[in-house]
Amino acid sequence: MIPDKAPPFGTIVFDCDSTLSAIEGIDELASEKAEAVAELTNLAMSGLVPLDEVYGKRLEMIQPDRAALERVAARYTEELIPGIREVFRVLRAAKKRVAIVSGGLLPAVIAVAEELGVDAKDVYAVGISFDESGRYSGFEADSPLARSGGKLDVLQEIAAQPGAGPVALVGDGITDLEALPAIARFLAWGGVVHRDEVHERSACSCDGPDAREMLRYLLSESELAHYAAAEPKT
Ligand SMILES: [Mg+2]
Repeated sequence: MIPDKAPPFGTIVFDCDSTLSAIEGIDELASEKAEAVAELTNLAMSGLVPLDEVYGKRLEMIQPDRAALERVAARYTEELIPGIREVFRVLRAAKKRVAIVSGGLLPAVIAVAEELGVDAKDVYAVGISFDESGRYSGFEADSPLARSGGKLDVLQEIAAQPGAGPVALVGDGITDLEALPAIARFLAWGGVVHRDEVHERSACSCDGPDAREMLRYLLSESELAHYAAAEPKT
């Protein structure tokens, strides 16, 4: 039996890549250094590099500079999924706390948060640093989000915050599903990529493609009647 509780929820958390935005940030970065990243993938596939090291090694190879992060930020916001602005407008109206938890790089994920009206303090992603000329100088190696199982830690932290209430998480990947023990409901979002393994292991599953279809899994019937029926402002 897959654990699942019905709304209302106090906090709604979203993954970023392939959930809020149709792109994978790391793929965008890697496209500029495709050869180096392919080489790393080969090392990982042949077992020469442990999987948890891949995050850092991949960044070492890509060496994303400040300008590259700005390009990813722009791509993230250009590729926001249809209806997602309305979803965030409704959740705000319903007084839900909303957070973004991502294994992506913080400066780019912050751009998505700004676009959707999410406070920067409610964005959990992996920090990156640059030198004075904007060149890559390292990433937040101790971030739980740079290793497998890390989303569970972060969701536990969010769920334990005062006033968090029951937490729902929307995501597309196995790393999102790993947070199941910390949350009341996981909504498998297949609007960008439908991963069978994730959807089969989820009590709630939705393929969109319009993000507004998420709302009926995230709000109670009375909340839906009050807030989701309101006139869209866009
Ligand atoms: Mg994702």
